[in-house]
Amino acid sequence: MENKKRYFLRDEEMPTRWYNIQADMLNKPELMLNPETRKPITVEELSKLISYESACQELNTTDRWIDIPQEVLDMYRYYRSTPLVRAYGLEKALGTPAHIYFKNESVSPIGSHKLNSALPQAYYCKKEGCTNITTETGAGQWGCALSYASKVFGLECAVYQVKISYEQKPYRRSVMQAFGAQVTPSPSMSTRAGKDILTKYPNHQGSLGTAISEAVELALTTPGCKYSLGSVMSHVSLHQTIIGLEAELQMQKAGEYPDIVIGCFGGGSNFSGIAFPFMRHNILDGKSTRFVAAEPESCPKLTRGKFCYDFGDESGYTPLMPMYSLGHKFKPANIHAGGLRYHGAGVIVSQLLKDGLMEAVDIEQLKSFEAGLLFAKAEGIVPAPESCHAIAATIQEALKCRDNGDSKTILFCLSGHGLMDMSAYDQYLAGSLGNYTISDEEIDKSIANI
Ligand SMILES: *Cc1c(COP(=O)(O)O)cnc(C)c1O
Repeated sequence: MENKKRYFLRDEEMPTRWYNIQADMLNKPELMLNPETRKPITVEELSKLISYESACQELNTTDRWIDIPQEVLDMYRYYRSTPLVRAYGLEKALGTPAHIYFKNESVSPIGSHKLNSALPQAYYCKKEGCTNITTETGAGQWGCALSYASKVFGLECAVYQVKISYEQKPYRRSVMQAFGAQVTPSPSMSTRAGKDILTKYPNHQGSLGTAISEAVELALTTPGCKYSLGSVMSHVSLHQTIIGLEAELQMQKAGEYPDIVIGCFGGGSNFSGIAFPFMRHNILDGKSTRFVAAEPESCPKLTRGKFCYDFGDESGYTPLMPMYSLGHKFKPANIHAGGLRYHGAGVIVSQLLKDGLMEAVDIEQLKSFEAGLLFAKAEGIVPAPESCHAIAATIQEALKCRDNGDSKTILFCLSGHGLMDMSAYDQYLAGSLGNYTISDEEIDKSIANI
């Protein structure tokens, strides 16, 4: 086997199907409920909000493989396969006998894995005759991905961006506008939900929950308009399995198989994407790879949340989902890993965690940036603040290997680069960042609200 730095796939080696782990799960995820009727939600009900095809995929527990449409494959070819990289520099910096690999999703045109799902979601909407698509965005990564995907497939895209990030993080807004999207700071006067909030609180700074309410309202009241989500939902995880399916073939080229697979965890899409294709060999072929989700200490739904039915959004518009949650009214601290500030975990990952098929760790904010800078110096890539959590978890495992003289193979997902997040690095380097520990009482109080 070759001992290379980077591994790619040729076009003819590229996966042409996504992997649906729901088909192989012994205990299927519990059913999502319609928030109005409290009965299991149907494809018809779900497809009032999202595309019909996405709704089918969301509830599909029987087909192990789902074909990737040719039009989406053609777009994946603009940036895929993404490189699988052996982190020799990081191994050396740590003095570890472990073999560390990372799957570099930061090379996508928008700088993160999010495009892997934005493309099929926009494509299905177009194919089903929609003209418009809408979503919300906090820090802006998902908004950028959907804006570009909409441009590609000829849809008008309207993004509600949380007002405070619209004002404080103007560059991602500029990127969305560069792709032709209409970006509205939320709350806005353009929806009933926004008007109600602004009438009551004229200086409201916005929240993800409010922005979701506005986007959902727009989708439900505009003919030819669908809503689209960038994480948490099962069809999003399905689309992201392209990451792990490629990694599996690339690891074969390296002559290795991972002992540990690690991803940072917001709503679970990049973690699921890198983990599920390998997890199928644990379920079906007796492999014993460990899967570790790295979440922020300030938003610990996997390590300290409760498994229960909860809403995906603050206002209670989404289906009720059986998942690990901190409560849909939970207000995470304003950490820089904006993509990880989400209260719930998604139904598939929640069931897998409950069944012991995966683990979770929580990472302090300062530790994540320390890890990110070590990685930047060793590998020449400044990671997204979210990805820093996966790197910190990887370093912990690699140091255990060093202490035990153990040469395990570790694979992690580099979900994005941090070049738009340099103000966060500035603050870390200036010593003005802190950690956010939350007490059991705070968690109990938020969970009691469910
Ligand atoms: C959105 C985002 C995340 C978190 O979302 P998941 O669905 O948990 O993957 C992580 N990393 C980056 C770079 C992101 O943009």
